[in-house]
Amino acid sequence: MRIDVLTLFPAMFDGVFQSSILGKARDKGLVELNTVNFRDYSNNKHNTVDDYPYGGGGGMVLKAEPIFSAVEDIQPLDADTKPRVVLMCPQGQPFSQKKAEELSAEKHLIFICGHYEGYDERIREHLVTDELSIGDYVLTGGELPAMVVIDSVVRLLPGVLGNETSAVTDSFSTGLLEYPHYTRPAKFREWEVPEVLISGNHAHIDQWRRKQSLYRTWTKRPDLLVGMELTAQDRKWLAEFERDAQVSASGDATREDRL
Ligand code: SAM
Repeated sequence: MRIDVLTLFPAMFDGVFQSSILGKARDKGLVELNTVNFRDYSNNKHNTVDDYPYGGGGGMVLKAEPIFSAVEDIQPLDADTKPRVVLMCPQGQPFSQKKAEELSAEKHLIFICGHYEGYDERIREHLVTDELSIGDYVLTGGELPAMVVIDSVVRLLPGVLGNETSAVTDSFSTGLLEYPHYTRPAKFREWEVPEVLISGNHAHIDQWRRKQSLYRTWTKRPDLLVGMELTAQDRKWLAEFERDAQVSASGDATREDRL
């Protein structure tokens, strides 16, 4: 995969693109990560890329020309590949694991990081294929949001994570939140690891993990369960959680005691 990022602050990406999983993926040749300073495409002697908004009002607006020129100057990967051009924007589609999976199937992504009040609307209308938001809050620029999206996309590329299964069981990939993890020692202070995890019985471990995932999702993010495909066993467990919650509300043992 190749990723090109249009930004006014390319130095912000140095550490992120060189470290940890992204750095390793790049070193292994699994992803090519480039930054393009679209100020280099400004067509005026002061190198400005923003201007006052038509109609007045506060804030500056990113001009269309430098951003169109920078995107059009990016070498296509090959004759058949059309890049996805992703505009980082708080008004965009909320980013999700599903979207990360969709983007990880592409060969070439271009990210546009905004600043100031916003973009000339013609960029949104005639240049981009996707608009993504990383949440309902406003940041100063699109760099941090682009890093968030790029990290979550690149870790899904084949060969990037050491253990191929770890991305498959991650929260949201299965539709549920991930089950709890424990590592050595088996007893830390007075807290012991659940016995099933040291039983060596993998069928029981899988079952325990599924139930825990379901329970976590039911308690922390019940919205994720709406419309999800559930097995008959999942439904039984959900009914059990409901029953236990009612019992617990009436003063009996807590759900945690019984899991
Ligand atoms: N005036 C804009 C609005 O109300 O929608 C906000 C502009 S914001 C100060 C500047 C830039 O930061 C945006 O163009 C975008 O690239 C980026 N940005 C800020 N918050 C973001 C978010 N939640 N998700 C994605 N990008 C964001």
